[in-house]
Amino acid sequence: MKKRKKVKRKIIAYALTLCFTALIIGILYLGYMLIFKNNEPQKSFLESIETTAYVDIDKYAIYGIHLNFEGTFTLPEDAENISLMLSNGEKQIKINWELTKKENNQYSFKTSKYINEGIVLENIPQGEYYLVIETINHDEEKNEVKKYYSVENNTEYEDLEYYTLTKNGKNNKIDIEWNTYEEIPTLKFTIKETTLPDDVYDITIDPGHDAVDGGMTACSDGSTSDYYYGCYTGTMIRESDLNLEVGLELKKVLEDMGYKVAMTRDDPEDEVYIYEKGGSATLANDTKSKFSLAIHHNSSGMGGTSYLKGLELYIANDTNLDLAEIFVNEITQNANTTTSPKQEYNIADGIYQRFFTLDEIGDDLGFWTTDMIYYYYIREVGGISTHAAQDGIYKPDYAKNEHYDSNNTAEPYLFELGYMDNYENLLNILNNRTGYAQGIATALQKYLDQEV
Ligand SMILES: [Zn+2]
Repeated sequence: MKKRKKVKRKIIAYALTLCFTALIIGILYLGYMLIFKNNEPQKSFLESIETTAYVDIDKYAIYGIHLNFEGTFTLPEDAENISLMLSNGEKQIKINWELTKKENNQYSFKTSKYINEGIVLENIPQGEYYLVIETINHDEEKNEVKKYYSVENNTEYEDLEYYTLTKNGKNNKIDIEWNTYEEIPTLKFTIKETTLPDDVYDITIDPGHDAVDGGMTACSDGSTSDYYYGCYTGTMIRESDLNLEVGLELKKVLEDMGYKVAMTRDDPEDEVYIYEKGGSATLANDTKSKFSLAIHHNSSGMGGTSYLKGLELYIANDTNLDLAEIFVNEITQNANTTTSPKQEYNIADGIYQRFFTLDEIGDDLGFWTTDMIYYYYIREVGGISTHAAQDGIYKPDYAKNEHYDSNNTAEPYLFELGYMDNYENLLNILNNRTGYAQGIATALQKYLDQEV
């Protein structure tokens, strides 16, 4: 009996060792698969890239939630079915572009003519991809022959980093990196889930003006205010306070929607500088925000009798009006207001685009050009996309816009919500602060629901 027990034990020990060894081998194999095998499709994809021609990337920029490329390339004469895509050999994401064929098989392309259109970064699924051009030709047996061409950086700009907007409490981080694979230049996109760093935000709000600069003023009873004496009757209302009230309300609504919101100021006593760290024209880019919303109220300097009233939304150059139009619709509906009848700089109902004129530029400031937006807030926030000028460059004691030559910026909008010196408009503004905030937030959400 004793002997038999011993044998049994031996068998159990033997079986256990066997199991254990199998487990170790399994773990090692799994590890090997994860580390090496997982990269095989990518490796074979990279090895399939043609080395006879590369695509020159001449310009690229992130503006808001969009990424755009411009470039040029020359392909073999018989190249057909040319498309731009993100690919890793297994998965392909086709990118819309405008392709122009020139002489001698030279091509030029841009992913969009608008800075706020193009590749929606929010929509790229997690994974690793390379930016390539694919051509599909057919051989004599009519089989598809696919070729891939990689991209080369022809700009002074380097890697990009992007955090997607918070959605259901989650974010992706996108790293866009210039690498080489066995001397082939590549642009690699890595999209991974992440937790948002403390100093990264989704949206920045700039309630215009501050404790020192009150902006426009009005008297609560619609009487005309005096520059020195203030209001003879009624109480003085400062634009800076109205802007802050709407701004704080807007922050609340956007946070209820799940967004992380930065503010240039949240207290009437705060002082804000334009280009200092955390300034009205720098905070959005300091915090990698996707949108930058400046809240203002207008005045035409007519006391309570301005014939102008209603909403004016100031936007950047080279943009489609998709989001601007939704802003106008939602604000007018939610705040029960109208768009402004002002004609100057008006490009669509309630939407305004003001460029510098030759007169404003004058002779002595060769620095400014007529493709620059007049309002610093819009021009300087958008970096290279909005032809930022590093405003302040000629004033030595004045902080300069550090992001002026950035190709990775927020998309700015400047709201003039209504005319404080139109009494009817003023009463609506005072009674409808929540409506204005609700309108702005709802518009942004509707736009994102259709884009993302
Ligand atoms: Zn203002």
